[in-house]
Amino acid sequence: MKALIVYAHPEPQSFNNAMKDCAEKTLRSMGWEVEVSDLYAQGFKAVADGDDFKDRVDPAFLKYAAEQAHASADGAGFCDDVAAEIEKLKSADLLIFQFPMWWFGFPAILKGWVDRVFAAGTIYGGDIGMFSEGLFRGKRALVSFTSGATKQTYSGVGLYGRADVTLWPIENGVLNFAGFSVLPHFQAEAPAKLDDAGRKAILENWASYLRSIDDHTPLEFHDLGDFDQSKAWTLRAGIKGRTVGQDGVGE
Ligand SMILES: Cc1cc2nc3c(=O)[nH]c(=O)nc-3n(C[C@H](O)[C@H](O)[C@H](O)COP(=O)(O)OP(=O)(O)OC[C@H]3O[C@@H](n4cnc5c(N)ncnc54)[C@H](O)[C@@H]3O)c2cc1C
Repeated sequence: MKALIVYAHPEPQSFNNAMKDCAEKTLRSMGWEVEVSDLYAQGFKAVADGDDFKDRVDPAFLKYAAEQAHASADGAGFCDDVAAEIEKLKSADLLIFQFPMWWFGFPAILKGWVDRVFAAGTIYGGDIGMFSEGLFRGKRALVSFTSGATKQTYSGVGLYGRADVTLWPIENGVLNFAGFSVLPHFQAEAPAKLDDAGRKAILENWASYLRSIDDHTPLEFHDLGDFDQSKAWTLRAGIKGRTVGQDGVGE
């Protein structure tokens, strides 16, 4: 089994780095092959632009997804850093995003990785499928993040609101969209406010989470078939929404 950890933190002595090292060590001890994309260390380009393609279908007007599809379809190709990350992603059985929560989402460099690597025509779109019929069905992914705020603050009565609501764009919009089974997120809460023993306890919990990775039930998402394409992809009549973002009843 092969894991890809996509890690985004600018400081090599950060707690996120410790989380990344902990995951790598734990998974290796379980016999996994582990690859790490250390985005800051790689100097990964965060912005999607025309330089991402070796050849342009329309050099005069950049339609990014169309160029992605072109680069996918006829072997025209992606620039080298994107091509390398796509290969890592496609060969992974488990994808882990490791990052500090910044402004209720990814650091920009990790958002840029998704923009550039989850490419139309290669990862989704056309005949590839999406959501429950997506490319990565049967593979697992999870979000591991650190936060400045505690889990109580990220709760239904907390100032920041529920963490699963905050993570919906990533867990549904990126991972479930591409077909992954999404395992429950791991939140390392407020490591900067803890003492060393508290931080070590988080690392132990993270290692323990990974050691029992096969015991975690994936998050529930609707099958693509629950939605009616002819009605703008809304829930079919009588189907009751049961996810964070889909809580109505189809008409
Ligand atoms: C732009 C920006 C936006 C933000 N937005 C949000 C937001 O929307 N929501 C929110 O909740 N927070 C937010 N924050 C806060 C941010 O999420 C936290 O500061 C971050 O998650 C803390 O993780 P870190 O890895 O940076 O911690 P660090 O500060 O790097 O580490 C904390 C401590 O752990 C120590 N440490 C490192 N390695 C180990 C080890 N192996 N064992 C024990 N200790 C170790 C470090 O020395 C340090 O003392 C934001 C911060 C920024 C800069």
